[in-house]
Amino acid sequence: MTTRVRVLLCFFIAAALAGPAAAADPPKPDYAVTAVPLSSVNLTGGFWGARQKIDLAVTIRHVMKECEDTNRIRNFELAAAALKGATGGKFATAYAFDDSDVYKVIEAASYALALRPDPALEKDLDAWIAKIAAAMEPDGYIYTARTINPAKPLRMSGPTRWVNEEESHELYCAGHMYEAAVAHFQATGKRNFLALAIKNADFIDKTFGPAKGQLKLVPGHEVIEMGLVKLYRVTGEPRYLALAKFFVDERGDAAGHKLYGTYNQDHLPVVQQTEAVGHAVRAAYLYSGVTDVAALTGDRRYLDAMDKIWDDIVGKKLYLTGGIGAAGGIEGFGPAYDLPNPSGYAETCATIAYALWNWRMFLASGDAKYMDLFERASYNAFLSGYGMSGDAFFYPNPLASHGQHERTPWFTCACCPPNVARFIAELGGFAYGVRGDKVYVNMFNEGTADVDTAAGKVRLAQATAYPWDGNVKITVAPETEATFTLMIRVPGWAQGRPVPSDLYRYAEEAKDKPAVKVNGKTVAFALEKGYAPIARAWKKGDLVEVVLPMPVHRVLANPNVKADAGRAAVERGPLVYCAEGADEGGAVGNLVLDGKAALKAAAKPDLLNGVTVITGEATAYRYKAGQLVSEKKPLTLIPYYAWAHRGKGEMEVWFATEPGTARPVPEPTLASTAKVTCSAGGKGVEAVHDLYDPTGSNDHDRGYLHWWPKKGTTEWVQYDFAAPTALSETSVYWFDDTGEGECRVPASWTALYRDGDKWLPVKSAGPYGTAKDAFNTVKFAPVTATALRLEIKLPDKFSAGIQEWKVK
Ligand SMILES: [Zn+2]
Repeated sequence: MTTRVRVLLCFFIAAALAGPAAAADPPKPDYAVTAVPLSSVNLTGGFWGARQKIDLAVTIRHVMKECEDTNRIRNFELAAAALKGATGGKFATAYAFDDSDVYKVIEAASYALALRPDPALEKDLDAWIAKIAAAMEPDGYIYTARTINPAKPLRMSGPTRWVNEEESHELYCAGHMYEAAVAHFQATGKRNFLALAIKNADFIDKTFGPAKGQLKLVPGHEVIEMGLVKLYRVTGEPRYLALAKFFVDERGDAAGHKLYGTYNQDHLPVVQQTEAVGHAVRAAYLYSGVTDVAALTGDRRYLDAMDKIWDDIVGKKLYLTGGIGAAGGIEGFGPAYDLPNPSGYAETCATIAYALWNWRMFLASGDAKYMDLFERASYNAFLSGYGMSGDAFFYPNPLASHGQHERTPWFTCACCPPNVARFIAELGGFAYGVRGDKVYVNMFNEGTADVDTAAGKVRLAQATAYPWDGNVKITVAPETEATFTLMIRVPGWAQGRPVPSDLYRYAEEAKDKPAVKVNGKTVAFALEKGYAPIARAWKKGDLVEVVLPMPVHRVLANPNVKADAGRAAVERGPLVYCAEGADEGGAVGNLVLDGKAALKAAAKPDLLNGVTVITGEATAYRYKAGQLVSEKKPLTLIPYYAWAHRGKGEMEVWFATEPGTARPVPEPTLASTAKVTCSAGGKGVEAVHDLYDPTGSNDHDRGYLHWWPKKGTTEWVQYDFAAPTALSETSVYWFDDTGEGECRVPASWTALYRDGDKWLPVKSAGPYGTAKDAFNTVKFAPVTATALRLEIKLPDKFSAGIQEWKVK
């Protein structure tokens, strides 16, 4: 491996010395398809144009303000002060990687500047960049978690530079800085930020590498690989590409460093990896960087590995929504087919990373299947994470909810909001591509694109109401008559296939086929890697009409996906649908989707900023006077991305198709009708009386109260009853995530009842149990009270939580 890097370096040094490429030089390897740059694509309106407007008007300013208000900018000021001699400074935020949020926000704002001038925004960025410059150490190192107080850095930063890179995110922060600096340079032409990125990259290039005396570590959290490639592209400096390749090749090589393991994709050399493992954002950033390096080195071994990992995800580890990383405990990939719905993690950042990787795989291959997944991910799992107001976000994006989920403006670990801001701003840059005489149309959205083709400049103008209908009009306007092939993506969903694998399938075949007309005449086409190739001599004003029929589909999962057994989902076009309590009178888990009732699409311009709903019929089950009863009722489904905009409530994507899979609404109990509260820091308190009995203490699907990260403290949870109530028994099912998290059964607990304004202990007849995987029932001498409280002593080194709490 070392030799390979040296050979490559020699090649680049020779190439650099030779000056501008002579005609005889072989072409340098690169992506087969060249993306049409963001600045040439204008999403003037339509579905994504509207969201981009909100991003530019609200989201970018919102995340900038959060970076200021939460001390992320303050960290740079503190580091600058320390470099001027201030001592005893204290890092002002929670995580060592918080600098990266600032970089991602600058990247987002830079894409906004590439779309339209905004002198005030540009000035504010310059002020931030000056603060970043002042926080850089003289040798180019920048990482405020250490610089602020090198004698006492954050624990996760490690005592000295790089020694704890597995956790410190030093290289991760650098990678996001490069991406931001390149975006800023491309948007503004200014070198103020780019110069900082170059200084840092030169320093890292000296520090890491195959030569004697250089560190042979890899980033604990990938992203620098992509950043270095972007830096290489704008500077032409081959050392940056070589360093990206070094970080890729060094991964999984135990000769250089102590391997981090699967969580960081550092268990095997990249070219030997065949399965998606570990933390999903790390993984998909790595795969993106590897695909970049594969393109720029022409080394097929990397792409062979990427193909296998891609197949592993799309065949076994992908949510229907396009989300990845099902396992919350590691924010990453679980075992094959393990795709739980209520506890499904599908972090917003992981979806973005997955989309970015699929875009690169498209550029490498010209195959539409990658852009199909880009589309599925962006309309569903990604957009769910982005509230319509532009300033509220989800971190995980589950496919079912008991009503515990709600978007928030920011997170202590704030990776997702800035990532959303940059992805939306950059969207137009993923819409089109060029390869020789082929022009790829990947995204359907109102707007224009100015495309440089081998045959000259061409303007494409789209008019469409996509994704609400599948009719797309593309007006083609070459500067002069030009012969080229318009490659129009015919999505897999329009060919009767939701994903390019057997993980999901449509229950019924579609009757109508996709069609393309040019100037009113139907054109026959044979699909070429998922594209309808339309070749002709194009004249100004030629009109292409694409018709993608959008029937409503029931979707079935591969039988290996246990979570979806006896269930079906509903899709139309690229959109996954869901049922929400707001439309169904509260409960949705009790609905059985009628297999025969027609499902119809209906436009609702006034609902949820304008959506097309799907209506049909369901059977609702509930218990009444001890009997299971059912009734037929009308069903209204909304696009999954639009859920959780009308208050908290139940939501479901995978509907029961048989009564045994549904969860009948239980009869109200003393507990479920009581008001529940808990001591400060407790999260998910409503879950203790939702009447969902857990399958075990480590059940993440049914909702639970927990006090993590509190440890060793005494906490409480309390029921308040509407009237004085006779009580004589309480049962608690403890939450315990041994093996995944830091919650355990409590050290001890007691029950108290309220007498006037005093809390008195109940006279219990037996011990207060702390058994796992069972209700711990305590009978006590009857009392009549308006409130019952449990006092819970957390273990010294662990937190605790409650799955369900019953009273009698
Ligand atoms: Zn995130």
